Amino acid sequence: MRLNFELNEDRLFPSDPVQRSIARRLYAEVRSLPIVSPHGHTDPRWFADNKAFSDPASLLVIPDHYVYRMLYSQGVALEPLGIPRVDGRPVERDSRKIWRLFARNWYLFRGTPTQMWFNHVLSEVFGVSERLGPKSADRIYDHIGECLASPAFLPRALFKRFHIEVLATTESPLDPLPHHRKLRRSGWGGRIVPTYRPDPVVDPESAGFAGNVMDLGKMTGEDTATWQGYLRALSNRRRFFAKHGATATDHGHASAATSDLPHSYCESLLRKALEGSITPAEAEEFRGQMLTEMAQMSIEDGLVMQLHPGSFRNHNPSIFTDFGRDRGADIPVRTDYVHSLKPLLDRFGNDRRLTLILFTLDESTYSRELAPLAGHYPALKLGPAWWFYDSPEGMRFFRERTTETAGFYNTVGFNDDTRAFPSIPARHDMARRIDCAFLARLVAEHRLEEDEAREVAIDLAYRLVKQAYKL
Ligand SMILES: [Zn+2]
Repeated sequence: MRLNFELNEDRLFPSDPVQRSIARRLYAEVRSLPIVSPHGHTDPRWFADNKAFSDPASLLVIPDHYVYRMLYSQGVALEPLGIPRVDGRPVERDSRKIWRLFARNWYLFRGTPTQMWFNHVLSEVFGVSERLGPKSADRIYDHIGECLASPAFLPRALFKRFHIEVLATTESPLDPLPHHRKLRRSGWGGRIVPTYRPDPVVDPESAGFAGNVMDLGKMTGEDTATWQGYLRALSNRRRFFAKHGATATDHGHASAATSDLPHSYCESLLRKALEGSITPAEAEEFRGQMLTEMAQMSIEDGLVMQLHPGSFRNHNPSIFTDFGRDRGADIPVRTDYVHSLKPLLDRFGNDRRLTLILFTLDESTYSRELAPLAGHYPALKLGPAWWFYDSPEGMRFFRERTTETAGFYNTVGFNDDTRAFPSIPARHDMARRIDCAFLARLVAEHRLEEDEAREVAIDLAYRLVKQAYKL
């Protein structure tokens, strides 16, 4: 028996009839707005080369750690899911087998946002009309495979069909941006911009730090063993990124610690970092100093700054050893902003030329720290509910905890932060629906007029993100 499925038009809207009808009207205003994706990790090569995606598993399972971390948590090893090993030992290559394993375990995602995103992808992107499961796995696999072989599913065609106005990718300052250059030369109309993510050259505890800083020196002709030369080199690469369309930097530090230290002390920290003799406490000071330096550079070159602490990355050492970083073992930790950001805010918090966008995995800080800070300092904005909270409940919670203190206009819309390209429309649609549902409640409770809510809905879906990220 085939289990038919289709997406319900009212999904994620309130069940209360008054609120639901308001939510429907608000959503009608935003559903077809273009997607602005200011932060994410899709591969620019896909669009530069515009080659067909090879098969369902490599497109939908292997790159998405949201998907395989759940299977892993239930005892499925990563090798049969085709996740590449660091040591190059064999892993499953048969896409159909990977897909079947995934489909057999699909029930694990019940009640999760991944299930909603994935169903959206199956239904809206590929036109699948039966529910995924062990029995339908092969039929759905063949159907998606046929789709991927057709020109309508080439990366650039999907980009157009998804109605993406601009998509940001994320790169190290050492990246020469070959794919972005190729894209620009190609004359294709899609807008894909890089983002400057300096973690590998500003975090003394990141792998290969000293070598990276030396490479940075070679790329820029600066002596990066000196503090001033190092800063000039970082600034030089920022300009290179900006020339290739970047409008933002991105900082994945574990904490929001910032510092404002004397030059001679910075010089000695850099020396220790390059020698490998820096202590963990000094490394934290160094990272904190670099955030303050980056804020200074942002004021000069106009790049918007994003900071997203609160992730204990690569928590599982054996997964890290065998499969490398970003494999679904990033776990939320407690974070502080009120004290941590003070050195940076003391210098630049009142400067309207700076935009510092904060988002975090640590939900507890939204009402206590982040909304009050962003509701005061002109330089601060709140990013979206992120990762574990880019879920219906997380998004709702984010609005509930931040709106009364920071309003809507100290927030910057949604970012999908995804590696899974076909899920981009699904994620933005979810955010739009949740925001409309939240606004509908305010309207129903007569805390907001419906025409105001309509304007806010459009701002949250489209205008604020363009404004904040200068896109
Ligand atoms: Zn990211």
